[in-house]
Amino acid sequence: MVVELISVGTELLLGNIVNTNAAYLSEKCAELGMSLYYEVTVGDNEERLLDTVTTAINRSDVIILTGGLGPTQDDLTKETVAKALNLPIVEDRHTRERIENHFKRSNYKVVTENNWKQAKIIEGCKVVDNQNGTAPGLIVETQEGKRVILLPGPPNEMIPMFENDIYEYLNQINPNVIYSKMVKICGIGESMVETEITDLIEAQSNPTIAPYAKSGEVHLRVTASAPTVEEAKKLVKPIVKELKDRFKENVYTTDEAEALEDTVVKLLKKYDLSLATAESCTGGLFTGRIVNVAGASDVLKEGFITYSNKAKKKNLDVSKNTLKKHGAVSEQCAKEMAKGAAINTGSDVAVAITGIAGPDGGTDEKPVGLVYIACFANEKVTVKEFNFKGNRQKIREGAVIYALDLLRR
Ligand code: ATP
Ligand code: MG
Repeated sequence: MVVELISVGTELLLGNIVNTNAAYLSEKCAELGMSLYYEVTVGDNEERLLDTVTTAINRSDVIILTGGLGPTQDDLTKETVAKALNLPIVEDRHTRERIENHFKRSNYKVVTENNWKQAKIIEGCKVVDNQNGTAPGLIVETQEGKRVILLPGPPNEMIPMFENDIYEYLNQINPNVIYSKMVKICGIGESMVETEITDLIEAQSNPTIAPYAKSGEVHLRVTASAPTVEEAKKLVKPIVKELKDRFKENVYTTDEAEALEDTVVKLLKKYDLSLATAESCTGGLFTGRIVNVAGASDVLKEGFITYSNKAKKKNLDVSKNTLKKHGAVSEQCAKEMAKGAAINTGSDVAVAITGIAGPDGGTDEKPVGLVYIACFANEKVTVKEFNFKGNRQKIREGAVIYALDLLRR
């Protein structure tokens, strides 16, 4: 079932407003497992709109239009769709009453004539009441089995209408269900992930693999559509297995709802390990991620934000010598921070992060983005050097993700 989306409005073409309706509806079509093949934006111009609608009816099964249902001269979606389908426009009594009530409730003194234009519908269509405005939505089902759905432009009218009525309507006419599974990967970059699965992506049709890069992580959504959930699951399963085989321990979960910090806390709980943190450049971001997890108190003992050298010495017993000889952003300092955090709190495991988040403070030897992450566990401390790219926020977020990843392994 091919879906086409038509956004009507000259203001969209001029860039005066952002087409949030298209973003919303595309996402919903994906959720419903409907194949959105075309997305067109057209101005408030009868000739071009007629051309667009005619093309859409020829190549798509479901056409969703938003915008141009209002009372003014430039609102011509309904009239143009009627023309394209060769159907007459008639007045709908029910909608006229709704509009009358709407204006009565709003205490309007004068209702201009053009408002009654909104009580007109395409003959034979289904009328979808607008709970937040006057122009109703319309669903036209043609004899050839095409469906044309007209929705108002304002998102505060369109979205509730879609949620209350259109979603269910589309769900019912769509013969297929969709099932998807998420494979969440961290510890390798997006381009690397894509390279590793080029063959799978090129061969894909059903299921599809959609990569989504999220700061420091890559999520791969495997989606299949089939007449039943069971059948769709059968299609998804081998692909998920293949992805797990290829990315091995870089896959931290296939559970949609599980975030990286959930995996970390789960593992610590499983092995009954307590955690302490010592953060410099991330300033609490890492600990914040751990605390995101309900039940973090079972594992997290204490966190230190030791931004200054003085704090590193005072709270974590980082030696004067280390700070003088290697500096606060060094392998040695990260190690001592982790060790100090574990010992001073009596924790089994500790993570320390120290780095240069920028934009200032970088040198040739120690550039912006240089971060050391140390992990203390089993009386041993390991440390890794990273060179993150991007702005201050990106570097700090990257450090947090890689620290979580390090802790997980
Ligand atoms: P109205 O009764 O308000 O005239 P309408 O159905 O005729 O509604 P338009 O006139 O096309 O819709 O658009 C009205 C307003 O709705 C726009 O000014 C804009 O703020 C918003 N809007 C329209 N289309 C979109 C879109 N695709 N994405 C986001 N906002 C939109
Ligand atoms: Mg309008």
